[in-house]
Amino acid sequence: MSFKLPALNYSYDSLEPHVDAKTMEIHHGKHHAGYTNNLNNAIKDSELEGKSIKEILSSLDLNNSAVRNNGGGFYNHSLFWSVMSPDGGGLPNGDLAKAIDTSFGSFEEFKSAFSKAAATRFGSGWAWLCVQPNGKLGVCSTANQDNPLMAGIGCEGTPVLGLDVWEHAYYLNYQNRRPDYIAGFFNVIDWNVVSENFAKAS
Ligand code: MN
Repeated sequence: MSFKLPALNYSYDSLEPHVDAKTMEIHHGKHHAGYTNNLNNAIKDSELEGKSIKEILSSLDLNNSAVRNNGGGFYNHSLFWSVMSPDGGGLPNGDLAKAIDTSFGSFEEFKSAFSKAAATRFGSGWAWLCVQPNGKLGVCSTANQDNPLMAGIGCEGTPVLGLDVWEHAYYLNYQNRRPDYIAGFFNVIDWNVVSENFAKAS
């Protein structure tokens, strides 16, 4: 069994103007497809073949750079597409909203912490909202295609929301204005999906 590039639940142009169609097309059809193919090649005929991506990442040897980079890339982008929607934006509600208030003080304080983590990641990487091992929500960021499922990277937890801050995610539309891209992301976050991720993780 090999990993497959997940189909999107929306068209490439439907997140505009916050994420442009050309970026979506290249990001999903080329970058994510590349990570998927390279992951399949990296695990072929190894003991990792047949395991779920969560199993692979949560027991990863960080020295295995092919699986670290491409397994991370496969998982991270799969989560990323799923937490965006043309009908997104607005505010979380229910248990997730309560947990955000408990962990950060308010939604605005969460948004500020998440945006700062995304803006200050030097070079390429991701910002995350995670259920931490202590059960609270936390914000952190990782370099390259690392993610919070990987033990030993200083950002452990179960990710419920992730934002790609590689230049390939925003440069066509925003050039160097990463903070504008981060602000735009909040207009497409599908809080219903994030709530489902939170319910499963906590
Ligand atoms: Mn990416």
